[in-house]
Parts: sequence; C-alpha cells; structure tokens
Amino acid sequence: MVEIDTMPELEQALAEVAAEMAERTDRGSVATYIPQLGKVDPGKFGIAAVTNDGRVILAGDADQPFSIQSVSKVFTLTLALGKIGDALWHRVGREPSGNPFNSIVQLEHENGIPRNPFINAGAIVISDVLLAGHQPREAIGEILRFVQFLADDDTIVIDREVAASERATGHRNFALANYMKSFGNLHHEPELALGVYFHHCAIGMSCRQLAIAGRFLANGGRNPTTGHSVVSTERARRIGALMLTCGHYDGSGDFAFRVGIPGKSGVGGGILGIVPGVASLAVWSPGLNENGNSKLGSIALEKLARMMNWSIFAP
Ligand code: GLU
Repeated sequence: MVEIDTMPELEQALAEVAAEMAERTDRGSVATYIPQLGKVDPGKFGIAAVTNDGRVILAGDADQPFSIQSVSKVFTLTLALGKIGDALWHRVGREPSGNPFNSIVQLEHENGIPRNPFINAGAIVISDVLLAGHQPREAIGEILRFVQFLADDDTIVIDREVAASERATGHRNFALANYMKSFGNLHHEPELALGVYFHHCAIGMSCRQLAIAGRFLANGGRNPTTGHSVVSTERARRIGALMLTCGHYDGSGDFAFRVGIPGKSGVGGGILGIVPGVASLAVWSPGLNENGNSKLGSIALEKLARMMNWSIFAP
C-alpha cells in the first residue's frame, strides 16, 4: 500500500480525472425504473477523496446531494452486524451472486437465503433485522442518524419523493420480499421491511458526505479524525471484503479487476471506494453501464487508482 507522503499529487489527479469526465459524451444511461431517478441530469459528475490524515479533496459536483441508493447497504450492513453479529450469516450469504441486483432466480435454489447483503434481497433481509423491536419509522430514523453520525453532518436527509417513487414501482422488490417471507426469512411483514429498505435507499448525500461517512472503513473501523470507533478492525476488513467481491452486482469481478479496491455502487450513479490505510473515495455520475453501475464513476476510479498506484494488491 502506498505511503501517505506520495499524496501531494492527489489534488491534481482528482482535478484531471474530473476534467476528463466532463468532456466525455459516452455517459451511460440514467436509471428510469425508479421514475424520480430518471429526472437527474446525466451531465453531472462529482468526486471526493478524504485521506486518513484528514485532507478533503473535491472536484466537479462533489457537494451536490444525489440518491445514494444501494451504497446505503454498506451502512445498513454495518448496523445489522452491530445488532446481531455473526448470526446475520444464517440469514444472508457472503458470496458474489453473478446475477443482476434484483434477480429472483437464485432465491428459489437457495431456499430464500440471499447470496449476499448487497443484492436487493439481502438488503431487504437486513432491513428486516433492523426492524426488530421497532416501528418502521424508528428503524429508518436509526439508519439516518447513523449515516449522519458517520458523515458528521446532520443536514443529511431522506428524499421522500424518491422513496415514494420507488415504492410505487417496486414490484420486483415486493416479489423478492414476499418470496423470502414464504421461506420464513423475513420476520416482519414484507411491506414493513420494504418501507425501511426504500427509505434508506432514498438517502441523499453528496460525494463529500459519502466519502467522509466511509472513513471508518479506510482506517480499520475507526474514524481517524474523531477517533470514534465504529466497528472492530476485523469487521471493517470483512465489510471491505464483501464490497470487493459483491459491491457491484454482476460487475463485481470487473470492478475488482479494473480498479482493485473495495467499492459499493448504487443505481443513483454513486460509488463509495475504500483504499485501506489511505483514503475514502466517493464518485457520482448518474449514467449507468450495462450492469447498473455508474459508467463514468467506475472509469474515474479506475483512472484515479492507476494514477495514485492504489490497489489492495499493490506491494
Ligand atoms: N433501491 C434500488 C432498488 O431496489 C437499489 C438498487 C441499486 O442501487 O443498485 O432497485
């Protein structure tokens, strides 16, 4: 892993990547299956890096909030592990799915146990875990407060219009939840678990806020500036391992191959990337590639990682 003292060029690298992305016309397609997401300008691009020594470096639209969608699954996984620990793995697997994010096929073969916490089915089970002992609005509040705490920013809010838009069109997620309920892998009514799920996917954050929220993962479970411990070092490593192997749906192998760091994407076009020991990164470009991951976001992280010699496989 590179040393911190190789970092002065980071500011320049971010600016170069953002300038190059601004020029590109092949920006992918904005998700329209959630109608509210279809209204976002595909010309947007933002990128943020927060180094473990506390530097915040931004380029492009890095302060504009966007719908973090599945990136929120990193935070709900962290909360659920805090709540029930390794018992979670009886209800959710830890293997890449090799299938689209909303696939139902595997669930039948695997008796309603989703492959991993980052596909939709897995994240719906995690919402069900976070519901235990709570009303949905309390569970949603707990998730939002956790994200605000991680980002050290209580202005972060849930976009109710995005949540409503997703509920209105979320037939496939209803199918997944009902199917898992039939196997006994949801303990609450599907409607309630989905209410939590739709709302945490609708959290709006900027690249700056997202990169700050990810800092604990780049620093062995502890925010390097405040010293607050979020999870144990072992747990931070394991969340990173899941991001690397499962964070980009059926494009996870390709992202690991091209970028070489753990990352989690969302259909809003955001990606959270972690360079262990060095920095937390967030990028946003709303147009998606064929796997539903941010097209320019993935390219930008690939370029940045190459420029900075960042890879978890670097000597
Ligand atoms: N809320 C989205 C859905 O359930 C999340 C998908 C994603 O971000 O990849 O379809």
